[in-house]
Amino acid sequence: MEHFKLNNNYVIPKIGCGTSRYGKLNADFYAALTDDSKEMEWAIEVGYRMFDTAIIYRNEYLVAQAIKNQCIKREDMYIESKIDWDENVVKTEDLIRESIESSFKNLNTDYIDLYLIHRPFETNEDNLRVWRVMEEYHQKGQLKSIGVSNFMILELTYLLANAKVKPVVNQVKSNPSNWNKEIIEFCKQNDILPQIYSPLRSVDDMFRQKLTDIGKPFNKSWAQVLLRYHLDNGCQVIPMSYDKKHQAQNLDILDFKLPEEAIKFIKKQ
Ligand code: NAP
Repeated sequence: MEHFKLNNNYVIPKIGCGTSRYGKLNADFYAALTDDSKEMEWAIEVGYRMFDTAIIYRNEYLVAQAIKNQCIKREDMYIESKIDWDENVVKTEDLIRESIESSFKNLNTDYIDLYLIHRPFETNEDNLRVWRVMEEYHQKGQLKSIGVSNFMILELTYLLANAKVKPVVNQVKSNPSNWNKEIIEFCKQNDILPQIYSPLRSVDDMFRQKLTDIGKPFNKSWAQVLLRYHLDNGCQVIPMSYDKKHQAQNLDILDFKLPEEAIKFIKKQ
């Protein structure tokens, strides 16, 4: 696996495994949990060493279960999670701590590689209050790296101006429904790694066919072309699949490079 270097000198795998709907009865985000970690275990079997989870996914404990069942050492896994997005969490520092502590408990770990604010809270001051507590845990070494998700330029600018510890990533959506180019460029200019979620959603049949044609000479699928595009654009990706073959394909994107014309074509979609 190749890595990106973060602004605090830690490294992060270029491809991680999204988990938002894993361990659930069906593909509905809010579906009941099954207590089954099979999708995460397949991911480990095909070679993933990074999971992206969150309190709101309710499946942090399944990430821990999968790692245990697959007999992988904790230090060989990169675990990312996110604080609860409930507005009540920001009311007191104790509640913020409680939320973070619940992640340690559910993930059965005494440190987390990367911890994010899942989405901006109501105000910049609220974000900063949560960030200050995350900074404390970072300084104690329990949150190795800290970052944000779904932050737009104004929110990130405020945080950058007031934080003691700079966020290492901003996890944002980027796909044909919204490439989010502006925030991605802003992150890159500020040495914050853009981490792309939902990279394979909102691809219509015509665009999919074009991507399929681009991938043919390399024996790569439309999905692999799209994921490779994000890597070439200096962004990390965290795709999710219920299909073990797709999971493996999504990792198998490091042995080719897209031609310049293909990158230009995708960029202007
Ligand atoms: P995604 O990974 O872009 O897309 C998932 C869809 O793509 C599934 O329908 C899957 O179907 C299909 N797919 C995956 N690999 C494929 C392949 N090789 N070929 C063909 N189809 C493929 O979208 P996502 O699940 O929305 O996002 C990924 C992760 O990002 C989430 O799991 C979560 O960890 C994170 N996320 C974060 C936020 C946030 O607010 N921070 C929001 C949304 C998501 P199959 O199952 O059939 O393969």
